[in-house]
Parts: sequence; C-alpha cells; structure tokens
Amino acid sequence: MVSIRSVTSVHALALVLAAFPAQANALKSASPATIAVQRAVAAALPADDGTDLAFATRGFIATRADPLIRNAEGKPVWNLEAYRFVEGPAPDTVNPSLWRHIGLLSRHGLFAVADGVWQVRGFDVSNMTVIRGSTGWILIDPLTTRETAAAALELVNAQLGARPVSAVIYSHSHADHFGGVRGLIDDTDDQAKGLMVIAPAGFMEEAASENVMAGGAMGRRANYQFGSFLTPGAQGQMGSGIGAGIPAGEQTLIAPTDIIEKTGETRTVDGVKLEFQMVPGSEAPAEMNVFIAPASTFLSAEIATCSLHNILTPRGAKVRDARAWAGYLDEALRVYAPRSEAIVSSHCWPRFGRADLSAWLAGQRDNYRHLHDQTVRLMNRGETMDEIAEAVTPPVALADQWSNRGYYGTYRHNTKAIYQFYLGWYDAVPAHLDQLPPTPRAVKYVAAMGGGKKVLALARTAMAAGDYRWSSDLLNQLVFAEPTNPAARAALADSYEQQGYQAESAIWRNQFLSAAKDLREGPQTRPAAQSADLVAAIPTQLLLDSLATRYAPGKLGGRRLAVRLVMPERNEVATLDANEVVLIGRMGASDGAVDATVTAPRRALLGLLFLKLPLALLEAAGVRVEGDRAAVEALLGAIDPLPGGFAIAEP
Ligand SMILES: [Zn+2]
Repeated sequence: MVSIRSVTSVHALALVLAAFPAQANALKSASPATIAVQRAVAAALPADDGTDLAFATRGFIATRADPLIRNAEGKPVWNLEAYRFVEGPAPDTVNPSLWRHIGLLSRHGLFAVADGVWQVRGFDVSNMTVIRGSTGWILIDPLTTRETAAAALELVNAQLGARPVSAVIYSHSHADHFGGVRGLIDDTDDQAKGLMVIAPAGFMEEAASENVMAGGAMGRRANYQFGSFLTPGAQGQMGSGIGAGIPAGEQTLIAPTDIIEKTGETRTVDGVKLEFQMVPGSEAPAEMNVFIAPASTFLSAEIATCSLHNILTPRGAKVRDARAWAGYLDEALRVYAPRSEAIVSSHCWPRFGRADLSAWLAGQRDNYRHLHDQTVRLMNRGETMDEIAEAVTPPVALADQWSNRGYYGTYRHNTKAIYQFYLGWYDAVPAHLDQLPPTPRAVKYVAAMGGGKKVLALARTAMAAGDYRWSSDLLNQLVFAEPTNPAARAALADSYEQQGYQAESAIWRNQFLSAAKDLREGPQTRPAAQSADLVAAIPTQLLLDSLATRYAPGKLGGRRLAVRLVMPERNEVATLDANEVVLIGRMGASDGAVDATVTAPRRALLGLLFLKLPLALLEAAGVRVEGDRAAVEALLGAIDPLPGGFAIAEP
C-alpha cells in the first residue's frame, strides 16, 4: 500500500480536491436513514438502573486542576475535559448507546476502591491501579506515556501523601499497560535499575512483536482504530470503547525484573500479598490478573471490562483464543470472585459487591463462550466468515447487560476472528484462492458495471435508501479504480460517515470517520512514532530479527557480507550475515571471517540501524569500525528506513 505511486497520487489529489466544491468535502449531518436507525437503537436499549454510573463515580476523591497534561515542551498530550460536551440526549450523529457509554468512560480522577486500593481513571486510555505497600506505592499498569503516568502519580501523591514507588506490575504486553513507566521514577538509570517490575511470562517477546516487528503497520492501523487524527465531537471521535483515546506522549519501557509463570503463584510485594492468575492467549499473548488478597480486590486486567472486547483487534494483532478467554473468566468466577468484594480492571470502572461480581463475570464468560461456540457450530456446517458474521447475533440475555455490548469489539468482527483462529482467511472457494489484487479487480468491476458514472449512480441510489454497506462497497471499487475521481471520493466519504455515525462500537466509528477524513483531505502519511526507549529495552536478538524485515537484498547486488557488532558495556557480540536473499542476525561471534567489526555502545548501534543516523556522524561520537568500512556502508544502505504512514481507504 505504500509506494512512490501513492505519494505522487497524493500530490495529484491535492490539486483535484482543491478544485472540487468545498461543500462536497464538508462533514455532513445525519441522513434520514441514520436518524431512523438511531431512534430504533434508542428504543431497544436495556433499562438503565443507574448501577454503572454509581460504580463509575463511587469513591471519587479529586482530579487534576488543569485538564491539560503537557509534555516537557509544553505541548498538550491529553485533555481530561475532551468530552465535556457529552450531556443530555444523544445527537443524531452518535449512536445513543455509545453516547451513554462515553459519558461514563470520560469520568476522570482518583477513586478509592477498597482499603489500601485506589485507581486513577480517565488520565489515559487505561487505568493505573494504586496499592499502598509498607513503604511506598505498588502500581499496576503505568498507563501509556511518561507524561500521563507522571500526572497520575502526582495526583496520587498530592491526595494520599507523597510516597516512593516500591514496585510496578505490568498486567500484559500492550503498550497502554507499560508505556508510562518512566513517568513514575526519577529518570536516572540507577532508579530504573533498582525498581522492582513484575510481568507475566512472555512479556518482552510479545511487547517486541507488537511494537517493533509489526509496529509500522499496526501503528498506522491504530490511527484509524483510535481516531488519532479526529477531534472529539458529535461528528468526530467518541472515545475508543474502553477509554478515551491514545495520548500523544512518549512511550517508555523498563524491562521486568520478576516474571510470573503459573496461576496461583504469589508474591509478597512491599508487604502486600498478591496472587496471580495467568490468562495468556486471551486479550494479549502475555497477560495475567492480580488478586490483591488483603483488600479482597481482584484486578481482571483487560479480560473483563465495560465492553465486549476484540478477539482480533482491527488495528491488527495475533488472533486471540475466545474459548480460552471464556475459560479464564470461568476460573476467575470460581476461584477469585468468592474471595472478592471488588473487581477493578485496567480500563473502565470497577464492580462492587459479591452478587454483582459473580453475575458480571458469568455474563462476560457467556458472551465469549457464546460467540465461540455458535461460530464453530456454523463453521462446521459449512458457513463461511461473512455468513457467520451475519448469522451470529448477541442474544437478548447478553445484550441486556451493558458491559457485554460491543463498544470495542463487535459480534460482526469477532465471529470472523474465531473462524480465522481455526481455519484462516480462506473460505475454500477457489475463486478466492488467487483473486486479483484490489486495484486491477476494481478496474475490471467498474468496467463490467458500465463505467464510473453508472457505479456512482448505483451508489447514490443505495445511499438514498440508507443501504450504506452496499454503497460503501460499490464506491470502494470506484475509488480503487479511479483514485483521483473527486465525486467518487466525496460519495465514499459521505457513505462511510453515515456508517460511522450509526456504529455502537467506538472503534468502528473511528475507522469509518478516519477513512472519510482521508478521502476528503488525502491520506495521512506521517510515520508512526517508534519510541527509542521502548526499542532500547528489547533484547538484542529480537531487534536483529526485526531489522531483518527491513533488509532489501537487491541493494547489495548479490554480494554476501558479514559484520560483527560488539557492545562492550553489555558484553554482547552479534553477527549480521547478509546474503542474496536474507539477513541473518544472531548473538555471538560467528565462526567464519567477517568483513568488518563495529564496536559501539548499544544505543549508538540502535541509532545506526534503527534511526539510520549516518555512520560518519556516529564515528565522531565514538563508534569504531575495523576492517572494510565500505562493507558496513553497503550493508547499512540495504536496510530500509523505518516505515512511514500509508494510504488505507484508497490504493
Ligand atoms: Zn489496554
């Protein structure tokens, strides 16, 4: 999807769009069809008994005086009051169920949960859970960025009395649960080295896989999922289902010092007994729940929240195991709920009282299990991904529980994920085995339908009837066939926009509205940020494997070469072996001869390989090259720079 071609087409497009009437590219109001859908949704919503609001506000202590959290340069990275406009009945441009949901989710501040347990909520997409230890704070999940985590800790210390941080726990390998860690300590290596950091087995491998190996693609796709370039508003972003959005601050990572392997393992951390439930392969490949024994409080990390979650998140990730997920919830229901008075999770608001906890966990379990079992049942009768997505719908008994509704994950995309988990993307129809790629296929389809004008007319008829799923499909073919056709782009933007307005899922809304914005204004091509601190914390072998995915063998012209990397301060030696097809990076000195040896502190090497800083510059800063310097230059020249952004809604 990224190509020189897409860059040139962006320029051509700017000219086309500039000549197109402004009105055609403006945000539109809700269509009559959308208004009718919103009314039907409102009429069918479950009764609101006030429990969610009571739980979301219970124990409120205080919040931050200045709603803006800024970075060191003074730039805002988070606005606590971004959803202040959410009051009264839902506007026609927002699904009424989602409107209610963001009203609850956007509450922010420090909240007491149980004796010695608090949460900071609304300071980030995720929550930070705070436990009072004998000497300091034990913090579970230090938010996504340095700045938001520092603001959360500042609030804790101001309200509860200043104490040092005695331990940090990462519940899982997603960046919104570790990225803020350096905001919790004085940022010196000594402090970082002395900090106790507890994480589930597999944490570093999975954090590396998501954030570095597939980081370019996931970062760009996450822009769509979280609505990163949209503004909160009745025609804009309405949160992300389990939180508001992703803060624009700096992600950091300190490697764990203690790994939890098995369910039932315990640790006494700064005087507090904690017990762990391992839940790998559910919401994240490396994940655990935490039972805070003295406070009778269970942290369900991210496997039970205020929404149906994703079996396969639309930003892209490894597919998750819905059956295992339901199994872990059943285990939590049997083992931890009877010992708990409160359940907190790392998103959304807590639940209180034994009866509520048990009913809530059972409902969540049934939701994932129902999705799984009914998908597999239809799959084994020969139905395919798209057919199952249409056929399996949430039963009333589940949809009547607010937290089982699809504000984040949806039945439609989760059923497809479960099909994929077992059978993969292929539906066994040979016409789909070797289908044409999107652009040539679209060109042929549009021609077969009688040309662009006919397709546009058909799409407009579908839109007038409120059939936006069909109009978006037709117009998507037209835009892929004729990416600079301004009428096609404007119509597809309008069609996506109505789908976004109707969506109950905040992340569906974000994806439709982000695509509409890109079609109107041209695609965002700024590169996804890659945090230097996060990269630095990842084991060298994983980084070398990631580096190999940026190797362009053609640039070496068939030459083979080997370069040894020496990182004296870590006692690490690695060898990069490049041949006509692959770059093999392995730890240790290779047996064979090498063309050159590069000796440098690891951070300088990362600058060379990841940031692509010039070798000459780094040599001046102490990087030493022995042997064939030209070979080193040639190898560096064959490594692509970090990927930039790319077009999604068009070729
Ligand atoms: Zn999360």
